[in-house]
Parts: sequence; structure tokens; C-alpha cells
Amino acid sequence: MAPKNEKDPAKELKEKLFYQKKHAATLLSEKELKKCDKFCEEYKKFLTFAKTERKAVDYSVKALEDAGFRPFAAGMKLTAGDRVYINNRGKAIIAAVIGTKPLSEGVRLCAAHIDSPRIDLKQCPLYESSELALFKTHYYGGIKKYQWTARPLSLHGVVVRADGSQVSVSIGEEENEPVFCVTDLLPHLATEQMKRTLADGIRGEELNLLIGSRPFRDTKESEAVKLNILSILFEKYGITEADFLSAELEAVPAGSARDVGFDRSMIGSYGHDDRVCAYTALAATIDCKQPAHTAVTILTDKEETGSDGNTGLRSRYLEYFICDLAECFGLNGRAVLSASKCLSADVNAAFDPTFPDVLEQRNAAFLNYGVVVTKFTGARGKSGTSDASAEYVGEIRALLDKNKVIWQTGELGKVDLGGGGTVAAYIANLNVDTIDVGVPVLNMHAPMEIVSKIDTYMAYRAFLCFINE
Ligand code: MN
Ligand code: MN
Repeated sequence: MAPKNEKDPAKELKEKLFYQKKHAATLLSEKELKKCDKFCEEYKKFLTFAKTERKAVDYSVKALEDAGFRPFAAGMKLTAGDRVYINNRGKAIIAAVIGTKPLSEGVRLCAAHIDSPRIDLKQCPLYESSELALFKTHYYGGIKKYQWTARPLSLHGVVVRADGSQVSVSIGEEENEPVFCVTDLLPHLATEQMKRTLADGIRGEELNLLIGSRPFRDTKESEAVKLNILSILFEKYGITEADFLSAELEAVPAGSARDVGFDRSMIGSYGHDDRVCAYTALAATIDCKQPAHTAVTILTDKEETGSDGNTGLRSRYLEYFICDLAECFGLNGRAVLSASKCLSADVNAAFDPTFPDVLEQRNAAFLNYGVVVTKFTGARGKSGTSDASAEYVGEIRALLDKNKVIWQTGELGKVDLGGGGTVAAYIANLNVDTIDVGVPVLNMHAPMEIVSKIDTYMAYRAFLCFINE
């Protein structure tokens, strides 16, 4: 054993040469930890409010307008410090802060998604069976269906009436409001159901939402329970059954975001994927002082169903915005995009000690080890990835280190075991340097997902230094 105070050359060399990951709490002061916790109090309020992509846009528009952002119009005169945004159909939003450098040097783009897995109503949803009223549904995104039964669900969205007028629906979040529920079989009678595989345990057509049970009074008409529900809906929202034909109603887990753990180190909530990156990117965009490069933050829809559609990132709305912005400065949008850099802000899987076999521990992300930088996504031979270049990874690595942002690397699962993609590829395909940066999540896509408060704050810090650079 080496005596105290005497240097151990091997130990020193090891410290110099080995890459060591550390728990972020060991690297932060008590004051810094308090900052993480304080930041997350506002994030929890956002989560509790923004249960759908539409509500996330509503929240963002208000926050942006309060911070001096105004609606962008093609051809408007813009100078450094100007703050603008566009609202894409109430389901996606782009915010920009004009930089001091010419736009020809590109923009700093942060892209997150605000849609989350959920249960959507079908177009003809309402029916009565055995004197119960129910809604037929079609789930949205990748869910384990059994997780969505026997728990309180709220309902949000819009209904467009025959005359074109629109009514918003949001019910089941307040303590005094009713909730809805997908029923499941009692274990006593589930012998046959229990033989099904987990994937098949609850089938798509079994995700039926219970919405009522009391018949319309004093009638001999059939379907009196359904009639009673329609009567309540007509009174409350002025809608008839036919109005569901032109509605978008989403059932999501009811209730507020909550602290998790005796130490309150984590947040449990529906929708962390990807509102944790959306909120932190939005906050960074609002908080940035005067960026050198123009900052553009996009909160998009439809990521969970593959990014297609006019509010998803495979649509050209981002490209059109950059082109319109470029034209305000007499520039070509293509040249601006080619000079741009992007953080594709999305969550990654956190290592779960209960299920250690699916992740390769040397390359997996861990809760509380900071924001995750993911060089490549995809599955089976990196299929579907954009794979950030070593040069760009090096640049982001240096940026995060310089700004003392605690970060780690991550990979979504063991090779050939599964995988997944993000919007990174669609942005990289516009000839933009792009890399995935986000927050590690436990229980991803479940009604209650879990993130660490430290990692959430580090994502905010990462986006802020990227924008301010
Ligand atoms: Mn995501
Ligand atoms: Mn997802």
C-alpha cells in the first residue's frame, strides 16, 4: 500500500486517460441543485396544463407573447433582437430570435415535439351497449395498451360543428370534473385473458372509453343512456352526434405532474416525451439575451406517428419558414439552411435496473447523469438514422464542457434489440448539421413517465448555451 501523500502514478494516469461518468448531484453545489428544483416547479405546471399538442401551443403562444414575440409575416422588416413566431394550425409552433450575425451564417435550431402517445376518439365514437355509454377509440403512437386501462383519463380537443363553428373540450383535470375510464377484466374472470401475450393483453378494439350509465328519464325510446349523454353534450357544448365526424378528441391520463421519491429528485407525469425537451427549449429561447446566430425553436406535432402530415416535421413548414425568414434579408433559404446547426431535442431511454437486459450499460443513458447526447438513433445497422458527424459531436461536446453543462451519451437499446428514431433525420435531410440531445426517461410512453430534475435543468442549460453561442 502506498503511504499517504505519495503520488500514485497509475492512479494519476488513470484519471487523465479514463472517461469517467459521474452522478450529476456529486458535481453540483447545494445552490445549483436548488436551481434545478426551482426550474422544475414551472415545468410541472406546464406538464399539468399542456396535455395535448394544441394545449402546448396555447401555452407557448402566451409565454412567447408575454416575452415580446410577435407573429411573423413574410416580408416583414427584421433586425437583431426581434422576436417572432408562427403558429402552424394550433398544433405546432416556430419561434425565432434574430441574431446579430448575418442570417447567411445560418440559424441555431432546436427541434422538439409536443405530441405524446394517447388514445384518440374514432370519427363515429359514441355507442350504447348493455345500458352503458362508451366511446370507440384508436390509439395514437406506440403504447403498451394494457397500461391505459383502469385509470382516470381526461378528454381534450376540439369539435367543429356542422355550421363550421368550433368548440374546445377539456374535461377531467379539475378535482370537481368527471373522468373517463377504459375498463379491464377482473382477475377472477381473466383466466382466458391471462393466457394472451402482453402485447395482446388488451386489444386495440378493447380500448373503449366508459362515459355514462344513466338513461334519459321517462322514455321508452331505445338507447336511452346514449340519448342522455348526447343531451348533456348538447347542453354543455352545443354539439350533436354528427359533430363527432369533424372532431379531434384525445383521451390522456388525468391529473397533475408529481414529485417522485422521498428525495423529490424526479418528476412523474404523462407527456415528458417530448414536452420535457419542448419546455426546456422554449424556456431557453425566451431567456436568451441577444444571440449571435438567429435562434429558431420548433415545437412540432405528429412525431409519435412518424412525422407525416402538415404539422409534422416531414412536412415543409420548417423549410418554408426559413425561406421566408431568409427573404426578409434578401437571402436564399437554401443557403441559410446549409449553414445551420440543429439540436434535435428528444428524450432517450434511461437505464432501468429492473430491466437491465435491454440496454448496453456502457452506452446507455442513466437518470441524473445529465442531458443525453445521442450521436445516432435508428435500428438494426443504424437504419433510419442521420448519424451526426464526429466533427459536429466534437463541437457540441466542447460547447457543453465549456459551459459546464453535465451531459452523457446514450443509445436506445442493445444492437438489434429494438430502437427508434426522432425528427433528427428530417432536419439533417435539409442539409443541416444535426444531433440528438435530450433528457433520459423511465417508463417512456407509459401514462406516467419519469425524468430527473437535474437532467431536465441540464437540458435547458444545453439549449441555452447552444442558442447563445
Ligand atoms: Mn420523442
Ligand atoms: Mn416517443
